[in-house]
Amino acid sequence: MSGILYIVSAPSGVGKTTLINRLTEIDNDCAFAVSHTTREPRKGEVDGEHYYFVTGDRFREMAEDGEFAEWAEVYEGRFYGTSRAEIERLRTSGKDVVFDVDYHGGRSLMRLYPDATSVFVLPPSLAVARERLSGRGTDLPADLAERIRNARVEISVAHEYGHIVVNDELDRAVRDLMIIVKSARLGHEHSAGLVRDLVAEDV
Ligand code: 5GP
Repeated sequence: MSGILYIVSAPSGVGKTTLINRLTEIDNDCAFAVSHTTREPRKGEVDGEHYYFVTGDRFREMAEDGEFAEWAEVYEGRFYGTSRAEIERLRTSGKDVVFDVDYHGGRSLMRLYPDATSVFVLPPSLAVARERLSGRGTDLPADLAERIRNARVEISVAHEYGHIVVNDELDRAVRDLMIIVKSARLGHEHSAGLVRDLVAEDV
């Protein structure tokens, strides 16, 4: 049986990556869909684990060959995409799949998978998001400004997602995310097999 798909988006500096890492650590039935990107790896990022890091040429080639379920130029000159192969790999493993995508990716995946559960993660304030980003120290000042500009645009489409989690306190946000996951698993379509078996059961 195919697992549930969770589409998670958030502007930069909201702690979405930490949140998703916590979810996949706690819940072994959830697997993270590793995206392709043309951006440089940050310190500590591992190819094939955080992203598949590829050149612009390779990314273009994959896009032209239709290998992506969705892709977007999230920042100028930096491309990100979810490959069909990655989705298939995780779906056939029977696990629930967690996508970390920007809102363009979110919209595309919601169109492709209307039954997916979608979650938008908000910062308690833009000032907090900015503080977290500059504290990370991995972005140039110009990149930082672009990320904050993008954050405003992204937040304005939060209502397109089925659920909203505010990451003011990590443990609470993780709990909220777990509740959404649990609730999706309690959806009737998830137990359709059991319902059929019970109706047909000979007693
Ligand atoms: P970062 O460079 O901070 O890792 O990610 C930047 C943004 O790209 C984040 O908003 C993240 O959700 C988004 N992103 C990561 N992978 C994908 C993807 O496969 N497709 C799309 N559309 N966005 C992605």
